[in-house]
Amino acid sequence: MQIYIQWKNPRNDLVPSLLRRLTEQLGWFVSDRLDKSAWVAVPEGESLPETVPRDRILRLSGKELEEVRAETAFCRDEDAPPQEAEFAPKDRTPWLDQLAREWQQSVQEEVFARQGIFLRKLPWPEGKLFAFTISHDVDLTRAYGPKTLLRFLLEGRLKELERGIARMGGEQDPYWTFPQLQEQYRDLGWKATFFFLARAREDWSYRYNVRSRRFRKLLDELLAGGHEIGLHSSKYAFEQPARLRQEKAVLEAVLGRPVAGVRQHFLRLRFPEAWERFAREEFRYDASCGFNHRLGFRAGTSFPFQPPMKSRKNFWEIPFALMDYPWISGKSPEESWQNFAQIAREVESVGGMLQLLWHPSNLAEAVFRPSWNRLMEWAEGKSFYQNHLEGLLRWWEARQQVRLVEQRIEARWAVFVLESDFSLEGFALELLGRKKIRVKGNDLRQEETAPGVYRLMIPRLPSGRFTLTVEF
Ligand SMILES: [Zn+2]
Repeated sequence: MQIYIQWKNPRNDLVPSLLRRLTEQLGWFVSDRLDKSAWVAVPEGESLPETVPRDRILRLSGKELEEVRAETAFCRDEDAPPQEAEFAPKDRTPWLDQLAREWQQSVQEEVFARQGIFLRKLPWPEGKLFAFTISHDVDLTRAYGPKTLLRFLLEGRLKELERGIARMGGEQDPYWTFPQLQEQYRDLGWKATFFFLARAREDWSYRYNVRSRRFRKLLDELLAGGHEIGLHSSKYAFEQPARLRQEKAVLEAVLGRPVAGVRQHFLRLRFPEAWERFAREEFRYDASCGFNHRLGFRAGTSFPFQPPMKSRKNFWEIPFALMDYPWISGKSPEESWQNFAQIAREVESVGGMLQLLWHPSNLAEAVFRPSWNRLMEWAEGKSFYQNHLEGLLRWWEARQQVRLVEQRIEARWAVFVLESDFSLEGFALELLGRKKIRVKGNDLRQEETAPGVYRLMIPRLPSGRFTLTVEF
C-alpha cells in the first residue's frame, strides 16, 4: 500500500513519522504496514499521477509542513513569557489534531463511497470521547519553613509565628494537602500522577526528604490508592546526567519499583535533547512538554506521542495543556475559567487528552482554590476516560498494537479479523455503514451515535484473534 503526500519540500524526512503518528492517532488499521517506502513525495503544485486512488492522498501545504517541522517534532523551545502583542491564539489550538481530523474526514468519505463500510479504532476505552488526567508537581509541602518563621519574628508578626511553629512540618500545615486530594480522588475513583523531587536541597532552598519516614508513608499511601509516582527531576538534572540517574535511583529505592515517568522541575530543559537523555535513563515517558507561562499545546497536539528519536524507539511524550499558574492568570476568575473552558472544548472537539498540571500546595491558596473547585464541578457533568499518566500510556500502547489481519468485503456483508497480543478491556471501534446494519461478534455492544455511524464496544477483547461480521 502506498500513500501519496503532496508537499513542498520532499526531503523533509520527518513527514513519514508524523503521518504514522497521525494514522495511529486516528485508529486506522494501516500503521504496521507504513514504512518510509510507503510514502511518495510529490512537490506542491505538481499534479499527482492519475492512477493514485484519491483516498491515499494527504495534502499539506508548504506552510503547514514548516510548522510541523518547527514545532511538532521538537516540542517548541521558546517558552518565554509572551508579550501581549505576540500572544498567539494558535497556541491554544491542537492544530495538528485538527489536521488529522480533516484528513480522517476526507479519507473516510472516499473509502466509504467505494466499499460502503469503514472501520477504525476509537481512541479511549469504552468509546469515551476524550481523556482527562491530572499530574501534580510536588514542589512545596510546608507553608511554614524556618525562613518564613524567621521573617515573622523579624517583622514582629508574633501571632503568625506562634501558629507557624505549631503547624510546622505537621499534618496541620496548610500545604500538606495530600489527605484532601486522596479523599477527593477516592470519592471520584480517579487516579493521579505525583511527581516527587528526590533531592532535598537545591541552591538555597530546602524542599523535603523523600527518604524520610513521613514521605515513605505518604508514597505508600498514594500507591495503595492506585496513584502513580514519577520523578520530578531537580533544577540542574537536565544538564547533569549523573544527577538525574542518582535521583531516579533514590526514588526507586524508596518505592521498591521502577519509575516510568519524569517531569523536569521549572520545565528547565530543552527539546529534543531531553527525550534522548530521559530515554537513556530508562524512563518510559516525559511529561514536560507544555508551557510555563501560557495555556495551550506546545507540540500542537493533545495526544501522547513518540518523539522522533535516534537512540530508542519506545519512548513517549505525554504533553500537558494547562498549568495552574498560567490558568489563574486571567484578569478575573471568570476570565480564567473561560480560558480553561476554551482549552477543554478544543480537546473535546478532537477527542484528545486534557492534562492538568497542578501543584498540590496551591490547593491551600485562596487565589487558586476557586479554580480547583470549579474544575470539580465541571468534571461532574462530563463523561471521559480518567487515569494516571502511566495507566493512560499503557492503554494507548495496548490499543495501538491491535491490528486488522484480515478483511473481506462483499456486496452485503463484511468480515474483519482483529488480532491482539493480549486481552484488553474496554476496546471500542467506530464503524461507518449504511442504515441498518447487523454486527456479529462475541459479547459485542452496538450503538448508533449518528445516522450510519456505529460505536462497537468489546468489553473484553481476547488475546489472539477476534472476528467481526457485519451485514449491511
Ligand atoms: Zn517543580
